[in-house]
Amino acid sequence: MLRCPYCNVDISTRTEVCPLCHTRLTDVGNSGDDIKRTARAYPPRGDLPPLSGNLFDKIYLYSWLCLSVSFVIAELALTRSVRFSWITITVLLYFYILFRLVIRSGEYFPQKVTAHALILTIVIYSLRSVLPEPVIIFEYLLPVLYLVSTIAIAVFLIINFKRPNRYLLNIITVAFMCSIPFLALVIIHEYRSFILSLITMVIGLAVIIGTIAFKAKTIIGELKRKFHF
Ligand SMILES: [Zn+2]
Repeated sequence: MLRCPYCNVDISTRTEVCPLCHTRLTDVGNSGDDIKRTARAYPPRGDLPPLSGNLFDKIYLYSWLCLSVSFVIAELALTRSVRFSWITITVLLYFYILFRLVIRSGEYFPQKVTAHALILTIVIYSLRSVLPEPVIIFEYLLPVLYLVSTIAIAVFLIINFKRPNRYLLNIITVAFMCSIPFLALVIIHEYRSFILSLITMVIGLAVIIGTIAFKAKTIIGELKRKFHF
């Protein structure tokens, strides 16, 4: 029988961490042998072949692969360069991730918004080879994406103010992303139109400072639970 002294409970099935507080059981007086001797709750999972998902995954990903290869070959043959193919490849992948990991996932709204901001960043970045002025990616497109994402999560947190704790890491992640466009403009020395990206960074930093000032303890607890340290 395994035991967690923090929660004062006996654990009767095999696990590496306490199911209640996520403390590593070997750190609190249980040996590796204790864990191995404890019965499993369910049989060990066998190795799954790659692409063993459902039919939608198989059809979509297979079509995506075929279309991507055909586009690259066709564009290489016609223009001897690959510019527009990247957009097709990333947009098709975007819709897959949007459907599988955002709309149909069991995650909460702030996690969905964060995941969506990450994948849309890749799509927007892939436009750089075809835009007449690629710098608008950092001047306008990414700042708007990160501002809207931060505001969406902030509104969700305000509406759910009674239980905001589990979403604090999400708002800090998107608030950090708000600094990327302005820093990118500084790195490439492009100061023609930096106001929106600067405003985005300032709002992001204000959100980070505000969240840490009011909820530092909760954030540390959330990090500990998430990464088991
Ligand atoms: Zn525990």
